[in-house]
Amino acid sequence: MSKVIVVGGGAAGMMAAIAAAECGHLVTLLEQNEKLGKKIYITGKGRCNLTNASDLENVFSNIVTNPKFLYSAIYGFDNQSSMDFFEQNGLKIKIERGNRVFPVSDHASDVIKTLEKCLRALHVEIRLNTRIIELMIDKESHNVENNEEIECDSLKKGYNSVVKGIVDQHGKKYEADAVILATGGVSYETTGATGEGIRLSEKCGHHISQLCPALVPLETKETWCRDLMGLSLKNVNVKIKNGKKVLFDEFGEMLFTHFGVSGPLILSASSIINTVLKKQDLQMFIDLKPALSEEQLQKRLIREFEENGQKQFKNALNGLFPTRLIPIMISLSEIHPDKKVCEISKAERQKFGNCIKALPLTIVGTRDFKEAIITRGGVSVKDINPSTMESKIVKGLYFAGEMIDVDALTGGYNLQIAWSTGHLAGSSVE
Ligand SMILES: Cc1cc2nc3c(=O)[nH]c(=O)nc-3n(C[C@H](O)[C@H](O)[C@H](O)COP(=O)(O)OP(=O)(O)OC[C@H]3O[C@@H](n4cnc5c(N)ncnc54)[C@H](O)[C@@H]3O)c2cc1C
Repeated sequence: MSKVIVVGGGAAGMMAAIAAAECGHLVTLLEQNEKLGKKIYITGKGRCNLTNASDLENVFSNIVTNPKFLYSAIYGFDNQSSMDFFEQNGLKIKIERGNRVFPVSDHASDVIKTLEKCLRALHVEIRLNTRIIELMIDKESHNVENNEEIECDSLKKGYNSVVKGIVDQHGKKYEADAVILATGGVSYETTGATGEGIRLSEKCGHHISQLCPALVPLETKETWCRDLMGLSLKNVNVKIKNGKKVLFDEFGEMLFTHFGVSGPLILSASSIINTVLKKQDLQMFIDLKPALSEEQLQKRLIREFEENGQKQFKNALNGLFPTRLIPIMISLSEIHPDKKVCEISKAERQKFGNCIKALPLTIVGTRDFKEAIITRGGVSVKDINPSTMESKIVKGLYFAGEMIDVDALTGGYNLQIAWSTGHLAGSSVE
C-alpha cells in the first residue's frame, strides 16, 4: 500500500483518487477551493456533457492535440467505461444528439455528487481549501554527478529525481510515495484553474508546450458584428481560409457577439485554426444558404425579385434573412437600399448572391483564457510515460487531465480525457 497525494479536485483528480483507492492505496485528495468539481459544475451549460458515446475511432478523431499519446489511457478506460462507472455508482445517464452523454437529471451537480460519494466510500481523505505551492523532490537523487546516485534504481530507469510529497500554502508538508498532479489548465480561472501545477512541473524539469486558449470565441476586424450581437444563425456553413488553403469547413450553428463570433461552430473552428491565427489574420466566409448551390440561389433571387419588383430593395429581403441581418446584407451588397428591385442589374444580383454564399469576415484573434473552454498546451507529452501517466523525469510524479498538452473538440471528449488519464494515473501508482 502506497501513500498517494492527488492534487486537484476536478474531474481528473477525483477519478485518479478513486482509481488509486480502488487499488488499495491510502489516498489524500487536496483541493484549493472550498468544494470539489467547481469546473464540472459549469460544464455543458450546467448539464455536464460527461462523455461521448460514439465509437473510439470518432473519439480519437475529435482529439485535436496528441491523440496518439492518449491511446493507452483511452483504451484502458474508454467512453463506455465512463458511462458504466457513473451508472454503477447510481447516476442515470442519457445520450443526446451527436452521442453526447448527460445525466438524466440535466444537473452537473449530480455528476459531482456521484464522484464525491464514490470517494467517500473508498475512504479517500478530502482536504479542501488546501493549495499546494511546492513539490518535495529528492534533491540528492537529482545529483547525477554522484556515482552512487547513478546506481540507484530510479536513475537507472532514466528519472533524475524522486517525488517525496508536497507543501501547502501554510507550509505544511505532506509526505507521499506518489503525487498525482491534476490541477487543470488556465482557462476559466475562477474555477481554480490558475496554472500553478503547470508552473511547478516546469520548475522540476518538465517542458511546457505553449499555453493558448482553445474552444474560444473569435474576434473580427469588422465592427458590424456588434450590431448583430445575440443573433444566432443555425444551419450555416463556415469556411476559414489562410490565403487559398482551407483550414476549416463545417456546418452548424454560430452566434454574433460584440467582439465578433462565437457559438458551437466557431468554438470548434478556433481549436483548428489557433496555431495559424497566432501568425496572421484569417479570412472567414459564412454561407447563409448552404442548402442551395450558387445557381439555385440565383434562381431563388430572381423569383424573389420578380415577386417584389416594385418594392425598394430594403423592403424586399424579409423572406431571405433574419430581420437584423438585412441592413448588413444591404450594405455589403452595395446596392442602394431605396433602389427599386426591378432596377437591380444582373451583375448586382450576382454579386449579392456571392455575398450570401460567402459573407466575408476577417478573424484577427481569439478571446482570452477567461472565455476559453479549454487550454491548449501544458506539460509536454514527451516528458510523460503514456502507459502510466508517470513523469519520465521525476519518479513517483503523475499527471492527469487538462494540465497535459492534450485537448479535444466539444462533445464530451475533454471530460473523457480527464476520466481516462485520471484513471490511468491512479491505477498506475505502484
Ligand atoms: C464553461 C465550460 C464548459 C465545459 N463543458 C464541457 C462539457 O460539457 N464536456 C466536456 O467534456 N468538457 C467540458 N469542458 C472542459 C472540461 O470541463 C475540462 O477539460 C475538465 O474539467 C478538466 O478537468 P481537470 O480535472 O483536468 O481540471 P479542472 O477541472 O480545472 O480541475 C483542476 C482542479 O485543481 C485545483 N487546483 C489547481 N491548482 C491547485 C493547487 N495548486 N492546489 C490545489 N488545488 C489546485 C483547481 O481548483 C481545480 O479544482 C468545459 C469547460 C468549461 C470552462
